[in-house]
Amino acid sequence: MMRRPLALLLSLALAFPAPAATLPDLGDVGASDLSPAAERRIGEEIIAQIRWRDAAYLDDPEVEEYVNRLGRKLAAVSNNPGQAFDFFVVKDSTLNAFALPGGYIGVHTGLILAAESESELASVLGHEIAHVTQRHIAQMVGHQSQAGMVMLASLLVAVLAARSNSQVSEAALAAGQAGALQSQLGYSRDFEREADRVGLQTLDAAGFDVRGMPGFFERLQRASRLYENNAPAYLRTHPLTSERISDMENRASALRYRQVPDSDDFRFVRAKLRAQAGSPTDALRDMESRVAQTPSDFTVRYGLARAQLRANRLDDAEATLAQARKEAPPSPFIETLAAELRTARKDPAGAVTLLSAARKSFPASTSLRYALIDAQIQAHRPADAAAGAREGIQARGDDVRLWQLLSRANSELGKRTAQHRAQAEVYVLQGTLPAAIEQLELARKAGDGDFYELSAVDARLRDLKIRLTEERRDRDQR
Ligand SMILES: [Zn+2]
Repeated sequence: MMRRPLALLLSLALAFPAPAATLPDLGDVGASDLSPAAERRIGEEIIAQIRWRDAAYLDDPEVEEYVNRLGRKLAAVSNNPGQAFDFFVVKDSTLNAFALPGGYIGVHTGLILAAESESELASVLGHEIAHVTQRHIAQMVGHQSQAGMVMLASLLVAVLAARSNSQVSEAALAAGQAGALQSQLGYSRDFEREADRVGLQTLDAAGFDVRGMPGFFERLQRASRLYENNAPAYLRTHPLTSERISDMENRASALRYRQVPDSDDFRFVRAKLRAQAGSPTDALRDMESRVAQTPSDFTVRYGLARAQLRANRLDDAEATLAQARKEAPPSPFIETLAAELRTARKDPAGAVTLLSAARKSFPASTSLRYALIDAQIQAHRPADAAAGAREGIQARGDDVRLWQLLSRANSELGKRTAQHRAQAEVYVLQGTLPAAIEQLELARKAGDGDFYELSAVDARLRDLKIRLTEERRDRDQR
């Protein structure tokens, strides 16, 4: 019974056409706080909903890779470096970032664009990381009490629904918990102060400019006055006071000051987000005026080339990118765009050449890996694509994008058993077991698998059927 309000509110908060979100079993929590494992499981379910069913999720591996690199740099020097973190980006112009249970941190595109320096963006991530490492959500949930569950639900409603203001949060509020929800919309003042303090230490340890924090939060507060009663979502879930800002200022001034230049990647990401925003014509006009203002900034020029590609002005895009490439140090952002231009020219083989060379210079870049495999499929080199995908999967078996690419490559190769097997793994990772089981049934019937392949399919099928039965039983017991 106690889990019902949470499940109800979550399904409202997420409001997807998919079946109502179901929550994993929270286990025997007893008298303690929500356990880290239970917290991670809740987070996994929510993130699966966002990633695969929410149109606002920014499916851009390049941008996501950057946010993860920045976030992990901070997390590595936090007070709990063992905590798992995953960062993702939400297409939303409001100023917001939020921590879900289990170390999943979402950042709005609006926040990335509002930050005037990388240290400012890092300061908000540091604050969110601190909410996670200090286990604030778990403490709020406390002993699996009704009140704790309503509090967790309210937090999730706030972070997920407040960003689109909208019917969703209103529906949730109307769902019978109105009073309780409205009074619990944010973290407590103590938690906020702690997240500020711990976040600032992390920011300092990671080598960023600590003044970025009070600076950015002060601008957020100033901006909030313009909204009157409708404060930006960030301030609703992280109530900001003048006292908090002066605390931050005092602490920051006690730390050593350093001037920290923004990374090129920070600037590339902002240029890319701008070039992808709004209509192609608006983006083009915006980037043209930015290039006119800062003609020496190669990341802005890269953004203009992107906007030109979107507007299908391929000759202009090539000329602009050629100039940016002359001015910029080697960068995956430039090479990936150059390859996209080749593809737009119906020259996927040219894209493969560019991306293969770039992979050698930047072997750690996962977004380059995806781009290369995709180009290989388009260039009718599915065997190379499949080999690349399998190599990536060996390092990261839970990478949905790689399984998707492997399935496509196998389809091009005409290997139907292998195609359906890979597609089954996509569905497993997306949390839809029935669809995965259906793919394995198709793999069995495909007729082109050898003995070993079919044995593996049968074994996986047995596993998944057991898992599905267990999941259904757990759900019925709630
Ligand atoms: Zn906060």
